[in-house]
Amino acid sequence: MKNGTRLSCLLLLGLLNIVNIVRATVPTIILDPGHDPLYPGARGSCGKFEYAYNDAIVAAFLKTTSARVITTRDAGQAPRNLKLKTGLNGASRNRYTLKNSLQARTALANSSKAVLFISIHHDSTAARFITADPALCQGRGGHTLLPEFKARNDIGFNVFIDQDPENPYYQESLRFAMLLGNELIGIGRKPSNYHYFPEDDCRSCRPVNRDLGVWHQQLFVLRHARMAAVLVEVGNIADAEDEARISADQFRAQFAKALNRAVERYLSAPASH
Ligand SMILES: [Zn+2]
Repeated sequence: MKNGTRLSCLLLLGLLNIVNIVRATVPTIILDPGHDPLYPGARGSCGKFEYAYNDAIVAAFLKTTSARVITTRDAGQAPRNLKLKTGLNGASRNRYTLKNSLQARTALANSSKAVLFISIHHDSTAARFITADPALCQGRGGHTLLPEFKARNDIGFNVFIDQDPENPYYQESLRFAMLLGNELIGIGRKPSNYHYFPEDDCRSCRPVNRDLGVWHQQLFVLRHARMAAVLVEVGNIADAEDEARISADQFRAQFAKALNRAVERYLSAPASH
């Protein structure tokens, strides 16, 4: 090997080492757009599926953040590490179950050695609280929440965590959830308060910090992520009023900035355990 070539190799090796050191010290966060076109989630007041709302929030966040982010799937796609096996073209419910979709997300997060898992969702409610309205959606007809349900409940966001005392990431999940709840209230969002057992259909839900919209819920991704983990319901898309508010580009940009501030604050403070 000529001296020049050897020097180039050494320089390249040095550079790769620096890249690896930077990689090891910059924390990775996982952003998980909930659902996918095969398991599309809740219906918006004009019939649009939840996964598309989740994709739009993730796109807004990726434009805003300088954090090192891995998304669990691309917009309109199955989870990333299922794509080679099934994709969504030709994937059927026989070969690709909802559990596969959820497992793929936490498997990717756990193998990435990420420090924070954020699953993005948009909420709905039990069907008995929803009513059809022919005047909605430019007269095409849609649905919204019953006025009496809205009269006795606040409609807005929630941040879910796994409050199981056996979960070693509970305290850190709570720390991030509270930072995020605080930021979302700061941009004028209200925490939802309708997940009360036994009337609603969320049987495992219980409030952890009502003022900040933080609730416990037994959810696969929260129980299986081996890192601090939250699932945020951006708003309620079954409600025509909230759906219109949270579908605006301006809102999505505001939400993305609030989420980014919570991530920065979380990463800048030492872990509490
Ligand atoms: Zn969802």
